[in-house]
Amino acid sequence: MESDKIYVLKQKHWVRSGRSNIELLCPNDMTPMRQLEDEWGVVGFVDGCTVMCPDCGFEYKLKVKLDIAKSDVLSMLDAQKFQKMEMIDVDGINTPVLKKKVSTEDEKYFASVQINESRRGPQLVVYAGKKGQKEKAQIFVTPETKKMSFDHKDAKPTDIFTKITAEFIDESVSEIRKS
Ligand SMILES: [Zn+2]
Repeated sequence: MESDKIYVLKQKHWVRSGRSNIELLCPNDMTPMRQLEDEWGVVGFVDGCTVMCPDCGFEYKLKVKLDIAKSDVLSMLDAQKFQKMEMIDVDGINTPVLKKKVSTEDEKYFASVQINESRRGPQLVVYAGKKGQKEKAQIFVTPETKKMSFDHKDAKPTDIFTKITAEFIDESVSEIRKS
């Protein structure tokens, strides 16, 4: 939250201020509002509260105490940042159920196949590359979506294979082929 900007959130005006970190402003004159004591003269007795502008007397009825409303505003502004963040899905992280290495006759290439069980169902991963080279290809086959894909950051599958075919249970076919 930047200190030189007023944030309008759910039709209320909020600003970052040195005094109590964040202030709710009167919509008429931008004066920071203060929380009134409730009818028993006790702040903190009921859930909601009334806030009032000390200048013009404008009032808001809030469903929560002003302190909570302030921290809710900060949470909602945080959420906008969080929504843009990369997600690491620990729950969905794959558990290998099968791992198999395949060797070629001339030993120039390597390939390994792994079947992972994830929350989204099984996924087949093929790692392949030229021995002695750091870059390898990663090919993913997902039966649930009947798709074969590869990681574009890595080596291209067609650098290693001339053709890769994935055939799914409904007889649909996905192919990566050297053009
Ligand atoms: Zn006012």
